[in-house]
Amino acid sequence: MSLIVQKYGGTSVGTPERIQNVARRLLATQAEGHQVIGVVSAMSGVTNTLVTLATDVSGDTTPPEREMDVLLATGEQQTIALTSMAINGMGGKARSLTGAQAGITTDGVHTKARIENISPKAIHELLDSGHIVIIAGFQGIDRDGHITTLGRGGSDLSAIAIAAAVKADLCQILTDVDGVYTCDPRVVPNAQKIETIAYEEMLELASSGTKVMQNRAVEFANKFDVNFEVRSSLNDNPGTLVTQENSSMESVVIRGVSLERDQAKVTIENVPDKPGAASRVFSAIAEAQLNIDMIVQNVSKTGLADISFTLHRDDLGKARDAVAHVIESLGGETRFTPQDGIAKLSVVGIGMRSHSGVAAQMFDALASADINIQMISTSEIKISVTVDGADIERAAQIVHAAFKLHMI
Ligand code: ADP
Ligand code: ASP
Ligand code: MG
Repeated sequence: MSLIVQKYGGTSVGTPERIQNVARRLLATQAEGHQVIGVVSAMSGVTNTLVTLATDVSGDTTPPEREMDVLLATGEQQTIALTSMAINGMGGKARSLTGAQAGITTDGVHTKARIENISPKAIHELLDSGHIVIIAGFQGIDRDGHITTLGRGGSDLSAIAIAAAVKADLCQILTDVDGVYTCDPRVVPNAQKIETIAYEEMLELASSGTKVMQNRAVEFANKFDVNFEVRSSLNDNPGTLVTQENSSMESVVIRGVSLERDQAKVTIENVPDKPGAASRVFSAIAEAQLNIDMIVQNVSKTGLADISFTLHRDDLGKARDAVAHVIESLGGETRFTPQDGIAKLSVVGIGMRSHSGVAAQMFDALASADINIQMISTSEIKISVTVDGADIERAAQIVHAAFKLHMI
């Protein structure tokens, strides 16, 4: 008998009929002779509605994070009860568990907690007595008993971590697309489904805007070697296997293209070109717990340098506040210059390690479409550029075609 973990995302549980569909799928898996754990998200739109409610009632865009977690965790709590009811209504045997009841303990960093431990005793007891166990994704409890959540998209992480803790034979992430595609199929309609992808490639794609998997979930899967499959909850087509890198994977130069909208660029102009200046700017940003991305410093000719970095546009105000005192202390000429409305495009593939000319080919494709590149950054297996936000979809389509990803 195998033990299977199936995670169903927001769209897959978005209506009563969809929840019944999930119930049927879980029952069918059990009927094949397996023990089954279902990890479910909030019904689609529910988490966003709760975020809006929180800002409406508190008159603050950043309500107290402890209370945010108490609120947001209710979304998944609705779905576990409803899914369990649907299974029981079909004559099956199911039991719902919140994150805490499932033994998921985290650190105390509200709204982006890390899982520290899972004690799967309650889960195993229920499985052994023939239940399908339905666990709330996205949530846990810290050592002091406070409810925590794992960051947006965090039900993916719950599923991977539970699969590792119970030593599942199979972990499936069921969603509203047939698998991981060479680019978001909503943007590039002829994108192709990828059969097998290495953890490292999936991690780079997820971290650069490919929201089909939460990046922390992929990081966890890589660390604990949890192979998982991304596939559709609406059909039985084979999906994408995410696994360890193997030697044949290097022959594919570009595995996929990612896009990330709603980015902004900050330039700190006229920073004195001396040791410690950059450190002070970025320490202030780190203290404010802001996630920043590409960093570029130009060569100083006059003893003053410009430092630019990108971040999510919603964090612009916080970034300005965070560095205000540093800018003041650096002298009268240093200035904070924000630019909104930019987006990031990335190409990812482990084959880049052994193939040259990828950057030239990408930049060429963008130039031929008259798309201006604003910033560039590279890693061993990724090249990212920022472009005007209005150009991002066209840029993705052109780069996808240039690497012939529609023909894999
Ligand atoms: P869930 O609610 O199941 O967690 P998500 O909305 O988080 O689902 O992720 C699925 C969505 O991710 C798809 O509908 C698709 O538009 C988007 N997506 C973005 N990039 C890709 C990609 N490269 N391959 C597949 N889906 C992608
Ligand atoms: N409901 C949470 C969110 O919308 C977690 C998840 O769906 O994975 O981000
Ligand atoms: Mg998701």
